[in-house]
Amino acid sequence: MEADCTMEEAELTEIREHLLQMRAADLAESERAYAASQSLGKDGVPDIGDMSSNSYHQEVLMNLSETQRSRVRDIDAALERMDKGVYGLCMRCEEEISARRMEVRPFSRYCVDCKAEVEKFGE
Ligand SMILES: [Zn+2]
Repeated sequence: MEADCTMEEAELTEIREHLLQMRAADLAESERAYAASQSLGKDGVPDIGDMSSNSYHQEVLMNLSETQRSRVRDIDAALERMDKGVYGLCMRCEEEISARRMEVRPFSRYCVDCKAEVEKFGE
């Protein structure tokens, strides 16, 4: 099937901003939790400047709830698909995900059918 992009550029920009906001909100919350955990009962404060931004990112993610963590991952993946021009297409069957579904959950990876199968049988 041809992956034709039916979404308008302006619409995509709007969704991207929305996704970034959701992501920032989740991360801001976890960074507060991270800062709080670091200030409790540890000898010596870790030198965050020494840590790669990636491992810092991982540490921050550890403070997220499983739901938030998987949402941040989903959002990252959605942003990546946006860059590749395949946003809004199911990662499994490559069909377009319904606009309604994308509206409710703008970081959906799969169409409704595939989502059900993935949940049943795994990815
Ligand atoms: Zn699908």
